[in-house]
Amino acid sequence: MAFVCIICENAGNNRVFTAREMMFGTRDTFDYFECSHCGTVQICQIPNLAPYYPDDYLSFDSKVEIAESFSRRFAAKFAGRYLLKGKDLIGKLVVDKKPWVKDHFPASMREYPMEIDFNSRILDFGSGTGKLLQSLHYFGFKDLTGADAFIERDIFYPTGVKIYKRGLGEFEPAFDLIMLHHSFEHLPNPLESLRQARRLMHKDSYCLIRIPVASYAWQKYGVNWVQMDPPRHLFLYTENSFRLLAQNADMTIEHVTYDSGAFQFWGSELYVRDIPLLDERSYWTNHKAATFSPEQMTGWQKQADELNAQGKGDMACFYLRRA
Ligand SMILES: [Zn+2]
Repeated sequence: MAFVCIICENAGNNRVFTAREMMFGTRDTFDYFECSHCGTVQICQIPNLAPYYPDDYLSFDSKVEIAESFSRRFAAKFAGRYLLKGKDLIGKLVVDKKPWVKDHFPASMREYPMEIDFNSRILDFGSGTGKLLQSLHYFGFKDLTGADAFIERDIFYPTGVKIYKRGLGEFEPAFDLIMLHHSFEHLPNPLESLRQARRLMHKDSYCLIRIPVASYAWQKYGVNWVQMDPPRHLFLYTENSFRLLAQNADMTIEHVTYDSGAFQFWGSELYVRDIPLLDERSYWTNHKAATFSPEQMTGWQKQADELNAQGKGDMACFYLRRA
């Protein structure tokens, strides 16, 4: 059977691979194919995904919330001013001295100069229960909306953060910034989703999309590449195929930052050893896991930095505008 690429419509010479579910370690198998033309790695047939998003799926993010301590909430206000405007001495001190700031204020929002301020209307699509938005509230952002298909019902926080159980098609324009942090690869209709995101933007809005990218780690590890994450990740784009998709949605990519880390190596090396991501031998669940040495981890981080610099990391952040 010939599989047709959903991005570029090529049907010729597409290689099929069988990959296993290894986050939970069910080891259920799923067929994917790699488009011989644009390089997108995609699932051959989308199965019933419900069993692969169990109730605790959204709670894996175990970061301590800023709200848990008064001093953090207080410090975050100054840090936010420094990170967004570059001008706040106390904020600079907080950012320099407190490593938790980095964990809560996404690098993608501060390392590229988007024209946003604390009043910008921000939509985080695929927000889960809204931990990132709650953090952004404490950094000073005032208009924060989230959406996620997998939450039980709408959530309205006392902070003013609103999370809806909705698709992109159910929102009204406009937002100044729409963000999808590792949710786009889970969406079954990428072109339609991007068009919907565009509908919610005005001419000066940004859409920030962080996704896995099929590049060096895919070449090296194949079906053991940790970012394949079958069957949850439906599409693993290349930079070129994502550009084509954006173009088809009448969007332009203004900037790309590669932001991959050591995870592409240690995660994939776990799968090579038949160890699931949530196994107790995995660094993901156990920071004292001795499966890999500290030297290996440092080496992999260094290699990830080099790959990012060459545009070959396995994750990237795309900054899109309306064309
Ligand atoms: Zn293709």
